[in-house]
Amino acid sequence: MRLELFKPDEVVASLELVDQDALYQRGIRNLIIDLDNTIVAWRSEEIEPKRLAWLQRAAERFGICILSNTIFGQRLNRIADRLGVERLAVWHFDRKPRRYGFGKALRLLKARHQETAMIGDQLVADILGARRMGLYCIWVSPISSEEFFVTKLARIIERIYTKRLHQRGLLPEVQNG
Ligand SMILES: [Mg+2]
Repeated sequence: MRLELFKPDEVVASLELVDQDALYQRGIRNLIIDLDNTIVAWRSEEIEPKRLAWLQRAAERFGICILSNTIFGQRLNRIADRLGVERLAVWHFDRKPRRYGFGKALRLLKARHQETAMIGDQLVADILGARRMGLYCIWVSPISSEEFFVTKLARIIERIYTKRLHQRGLLPEVQNG
């Protein structure tokens, strides 16, 4: 797999530190956001106040779809309902990093890929997937180290690619707000 496909456009310490104004100025009008370890801790439904405030502000001017590789669709629904945003649970053939799920999310938002950014904590599922769809990619640090065993395996690949990106000077500096 080409290294450039794993390259995020921005690396940010946490979701609420993503600069919404800068995204808007760049022409971004839609956000596809990962759920677990990006919005909430794995399996949790609690959104930290500062993150909730960020999401509520974002929902005022961006189309938002939460895109999650999850079989727990009801938890996703409750969170998305609370925020008043679109949601899409993908599993099997359309799971991230596959293109189908991203394509479905774009259709839900009636969004063009040039005007859409993906924000997620996994280099393989979120960034690689979004990159292949031509989306603007923002990689955030995971909220917690607790995660699904499949995710833990994906982190091994993530570490290899992160190291290679770093060695080639392709990894943007981390924005800490
Ligand atoms: Mg995640």
